[in-house]
Amino acid sequence: MQQPLSPEEIADKQGISPKRVRKLLDRYRVTDGAKFRLKDHDPADTAGHEIDKAEARALLAGGVENLITHQQKLYAQSSWGMLCCFQAMDAAGKDGTIKHVMSGVNPQGVQVTSFKAPGPEDLDHDFLWRTIRALPQRGRIGIFNRSHYEEVLVVRVHPEFLDKQRLPKELVTKQIWNERLASIAAFEQYLARQGFVILKFFLNISKAEQKRRFLKRLDDPERNWKFDAGDLRERGFWDGYMKAYEEAIAATAAPHAPWFIVPADHKWFTRLVVVEAMNHALEDLDLRFPDVGKEARAALQVARRQIEGEEA
Ligand code: ATP
Ligand code: MG
Repeated sequence: MQQPLSPEEIADKQGISPKRVRKLLDRYRVTDGAKFRLKDHDPADTAGHEIDKAEARALLAGGVENLITHQQKLYAQSSWGMLCCFQAMDAAGKDGTIKHVMSGVNPQGVQVTSFKAPGPEDLDHDFLWRTIRALPQRGRIGIFNRSHYEEVLVVRVHPEFLDKQRLPKELVTKQIWNERLASIAAFEQYLARQGFVILKFFLNISKAEQKRRFLKRLDDPERNWKFDAGDLRERGFWDGYMKAYEEAIAATAAPHAPWFIVPADHKWFTRLVVVEAMNHALEDLDLRFPDVGKEARAALQVARRQIEGEEA
């Protein structure tokens, strides 16, 4: 069997490496919504690179290795925390991205929450209630598979969801979406000030690629289970969703809570961008394993002598 290529060998051969992807992040990161337009972002972008599956796997493994190390330090320090929100149209690859990027990361340091349509208990509360309950602890990486953003996306596209929320009538005005976006921005500002690094990923799939993936789910018996008639219905609201996404991203992009508009027509590229965005943000924290201090080190020496002196 052929030896798999190392990330360095692929970098030499294909000109793409985690480092190169890191440099590309500026293209996808939005920290100021003033000029944000979704149409300026190409879902099929791979910065000109074309690689095969084995190469993609090896490159991703390099990125994941680094993420594993950062996560160990984050956990050991237990001071900073991280929250990654994943939003996308159906079949954009949220689940696969989460699975591949987080593979190998210590499960004890990761908390994944999938947000579905709210249940009766959720609907008895304010819209951020269930989000707050799912927030990661310090030292952990929280992954939101869908998130509080659904409240300005699906709920905006389908007003019947808003009706179910039983808000006092006086409060449901034309301003409701701007108000909700402002609440989300304020909430994220608060979290950032509490030491939580927030990254928001919009997996940007094209309508044509979504069609291709839906057809694959219909044609391939092993993928049949993934097909959901509801997804096709939501596809019918594509333009409404794009408009809602554009406004949500523009209103909530900030240096402390950036959005990444991740090209999602090529899965291998999506995953690399996500893992490097996480690595970059964690590296910025300059995490180190905690130094236990002089006294504790002396106590460790005492413990060592005690163990060594034990009768076998
Ligand atoms: P997958 O299909 O890969 O399992 P998914 O995230 O699409 O993942 P589903 O169970 O298919 O999961 O869909 C969840 C649904 O719940 C989505 O249609 C989403 O828009 C909806 N949802 C999530 N949050 C809310 C919310 N706050 N209000 C109303 N609907 C919501
Ligand atoms: Mg679904």
